[in-house]
Amino acid sequence: MLIKTIPVGQLETNCYVVTDEQTLDCAVIDPGDESNSILDYLESNHLRCRAILLTHGHYDHTGAADSLREETGATVYMNRLDDRKNSDDYVFPYTLPENGKYYGDGDAVEISGLRFEVIATPGHTRGGVTLRCGNALFTGDTLFKGSCGRTDLPGGDMDEELESLNKLCSLPGDYEVYPGHMDSSTLSRERLFNYYCRLAMNR
Ligand SMILES: [Zn+2]
Repeated sequence: MLIKTIPVGQLETNCYVVTDEQTLDCAVIDPGDESNSILDYLESNHLRCRAILLTHGHYDHTGAADSLREETGATVYMNRLDDRKNSDDYVFPYTLPENGKYYGDGDAVEISGLRFEVIATPGHTRGGVTLRCGNALFTGDTLFKGSCGRTDLPGGDMDEELESLNKLCSLPGDYEVYPGHMDSSTLSRERLFNYYCRLAMNR
C-alpha cells in the first residue's frame, strides 16, 4: 500500500491517493479541489482510480469529486447523512451522483488488494466517517494531530465528537493517522498528547 498526500484548495485539505502497488489500482480520499493535480498524479504514475471515498460532506473535501469521477469513472462513496439531499445546510453542498453509493458504520469498500473499513465518527458532521485500511486511519476532520475538528457548524456536536474520538482511541494497537488537514500522526501519540483524545478517554 502506497499513500500519497496531495494538499488541495485554499484550506489545504489533504487529499490521499491510496494505491495497491501490485495492480496500480487506487482509491482517492477527499478530492476537495484541484482535480488537475490529482489527475496529473494518477496519470504520471499510471494509476487507475477505482473508488472516490469521502470522509464527510463539506465542500473542501468534496469539491473535485464530480470532475474526478467524470474523468476516471470511479464510484463515489459517502455517508447519506452528509448528502445535500438529506440536509438543507449550506455547509453540505455535495449530492451523491446516481451511480454513487452510500456507506456507513461497519461497511467496507474493497478494491484489488485494498480494504477500507468504515467507522462512523460523527461530531464534526453527522455523517462523518473514518476509513481504516491496513495500519492507516483516514480520520477526515474528526481527529487532527494534536486537535480535533470544529463542532460549531451545522450538524456538529461536541458530545458526539468526544464519543467518536474515544471510539478511535479505543481501537487496539497503533495506527498511522492521516487527517483531513495538516500533518499525519500516530494513534499512540494522539492518545498521549491530544487534549481532546485525553478528555474523550477519561469521560
Ligand atoms: Zn469538515
